[in-house]
Amino acid sequence: MEEQLKKIIGLNGWYLDIHSVKDGFRDVCLVGLIGEDSGRQLEFNLRGVSSLPSMMEQAVFVGEYVERNMPQHKIIPAWAHLFFIADDSKVDDVEHLLSDYSRPVRFKNGERKLGLLLGYSECCVKAHLEDRLPYRDYSTYPIPFSPCSTECEKPWMNEYLRLARKYGVNISREFV
Ligand SMILES: [Zn+2]
Repeated sequence: MEEQLKKIIGLNGWYLDIHSVKDGFRDVCLVGLIGEDSGRQLEFNLRGVSSLPSMMEQAVFVGEYVERNMPQHKIIPAWAHLFFIADDSKVDDVEHLLSDYSRPVRFKNGERKLGLLLGYSECCVKAHLEDRLPYRDYSTYPIPFSPCSTECEKPWMNEYLRLARKYGVNISREFV
């Protein structure tokens, strides 16, 4: 089921995000579903991955995976994404956020609340909103956000490298 999850999720980063919640490093993560007419799907086709399942099939598979492997966790769908939630208390937080903003990233304050909910430090969220982050090649950057400093990066990088080793993910590639 792990190998199938990698294929269904498609991107190494999202696959590691799921396991950052599964392994207890964080309470909430957000994984995107890949639409058939999206640029992502086009990229997949160019790389010879032509049989990406539909968004519905992706969501159904991920739902089954969670039910079987981490039944105490919750999934909340939102704007072509899925929230994975480990801690019950965060379910309310996610629902509040979505009732205030159907697409939080379109609003500065929504984006700020989303970043904090996903476990990113206040300083990193602030730096992101003010657009003053160090340059990085995000296609192969294994962690799901851009930390504002090496101190903020360190615990995430250590954990994501550990997860990559544990689950056999080649982080020098963007796609599984
Ligand atoms: Zn920071």
